[in-house]
Amino acid sequence: MYRTKTCGELRLADKGTKVTLAGWVQKVRSLGSMTFVDLRDRYGITQLVFDGTVDIGREYVIQVTGEVLERESKNPKLPTGEIEVKAENLNVLNKAQTPPFTIEEVSDGGEDLRAKYRYLDLRRAPLQRALALRHRLAQETRSYLDSKGFMEIETPYLIKSTPEGARDFVVPSRMNPGTFYALPQSPQTFKQLLMVAGYDRYFQIVRCFRDEDLRADRQPEFTQIDCEMSFVEQEDVLNTFEGMMRQMFRNAIGVDIPDPLPRMSWYDAMDNYGSDKPDIRFGMKIHDITDLAKGSGFSVFDSSEYIGAICAEGCGDYTRKQTDELTEWVKRPQVGAKGLVYIKLGAEGIKSSIDKFFTPEQLSKIADRLGAKQGDIIFILCGSKRKTQTQLGVLRIEMGNRLGLRDPKVFAPLWIVDFPLLEWSEEDGRFYAMHHPFTAPKPEHEQWFYSDRKEDLERVCANAYDFVLNGTELGGGSIRIHNADMQKRMFEVLGISEQEAEYKFGFIINAFKFGAPPHGGLAFGFDRVCALFGGQETIRDYIAFPKNNQGRDVMIDSPSKIDQAQMDELYLVSKAEC
Ligand code: ASP
Repeated sequence: MYRTKTCGELRLADKGTKVTLAGWVQKVRSLGSMTFVDLRDRYGITQLVFDGTVDIGREYVIQVTGEVLERESKNPKLPTGEIEVKAENLNVLNKAQTPPFTIEEVSDGGEDLRAKYRYLDLRRAPLQRALALRHRLAQETRSYLDSKGFMEIETPYLIKSTPEGARDFVVPSRMNPGTFYALPQSPQTFKQLLMVAGYDRYFQIVRCFRDEDLRADRQPEFTQIDCEMSFVEQEDVLNTFEGMMRQMFRNAIGVDIPDPLPRMSWYDAMDNYGSDKPDIRFGMKIHDITDLAKGSGFSVFDSSEYIGAICAEGCGDYTRKQTDELTEWVKRPQVGAKGLVYIKLGAEGIKSSIDKFFTPEQLSKIADRLGAKQGDIIFILCGSKRKTQTQLGVLRIEMGNRLGLRDPKVFAPLWIVDFPLLEWSEEDGRFYAMHHPFTAPKPEHEQWFYSDRKEDLERVCANAYDFVLNGTELGGGSIRIHNADMQKRMFEVLGISEQEAEYKFGFIINAFKFGAPPHGGLAFGFDRVCALFGGQETIRDYIAFPKNNQGRDVMIDSPSKIDQAQMDELYLVSKAEC
């Protein structure tokens, strides 16, 4: 037997017993006459004491037998801190080279080095905690969905493109020269086909692939909790998955979320928070002040469709330097504002960057609308409505960060509902599906859906919903189209020709002709769920083997070239100069 106990298990109650432990050497402290060794495994750290010196180094894998003793100097920070094991027998199971960075709570290794030796980084406690949380959340998902009658069904990875709005990863087919599979951006069409097939409640914790530019919360391959239900309305879907989230919060991190969860329409989210994923941990709502600010002779305001403002509490003493810095900040391309107007409610009264055009009474009226009080500052942006609201939304989040209002240990989930079905792209001169092309219009908006007028199509809403937590979209879904004619109309509205629709989606349009039940569902981004539950923004620590910002796995050195024979076999010619 390699071990009788783990390194996280022994307590004072075990004093006097004989144990065998196995694990990695975390630390060796030699005092000459005796040597202390911290032995580590997944479960914890146990202190070993050897007589004299021992010839072992960091990360050696050893097996030790000995008696459990009460420690003289106890370590209250460790669960095993009251005991130590007096080593009688040492068995070196494997030597180790000195690791390139320290395997400790906080490592001295940089990100690239740790990525290259990911298997060593994964030995560190923070990563072990992250993956343990991920495991717990996956188990909670399965147990909840199983208890609600969902079946876990796998769908294929080698498929034909599914339109979720990103680029596909493709795989050449050797057996069908010149053709390619696409890796699924999501199992969307398959789960709908499972509903047509009568499976009624489906779920899958499934890998999805999207060839997009990467950010801290994005990976080219990521995991979804993907779900679909038949004979449901929006209310049924929201209640079911609110329940799942409630169980995950409670059982994984001991947090109780509101029951029922707040819901906000997409329009209210945009108007009040300038975002379809509002962070409602703090107020600082956006206010429309167009009626109060327009027409005072300030041409920038007078020529704007919309003028909006937020109030940052307690920032009334901002210096000129601070407001200048913030003005530069909003002018960065990532925000895109032309400038920033402020009204300070400081000790010497109201002062603004537009004093020339506004009387103190007018400025007070604006301050009243925002509920601003002495000691606050108001920031104003103007331009076209949605764009300005979005910019104010970004500024609001920045101020929330600066003012420490975004505590990762506070959880404020909500549903965003009533999304528009379609989004007009000025650039392309066409509509895009706001969620995806399988989302149904709200029944009460159907007459607009069949209209050819742009204004009508723009106001069609969908029973589409997002689950939002702390300013991040964790999941989303919709009630689907289940009628072949309506699906064809959708493709028509999206400017997809009949032939193209037939070529790409003939199978699903066809399936809808064979008795498709009303259905709907959603998917959660599982990596993000894990990261946010763990109080982090970056998902990388919650994935055992993630890619870096260039989409590379530097440990296995992928992507990499393939040899000419493999290229030939796949009928491929490379244009890249590698
Ligand atoms: N397939 C969708 C997505 O990946 C989710 C859904 O509509 O169920 O975002």
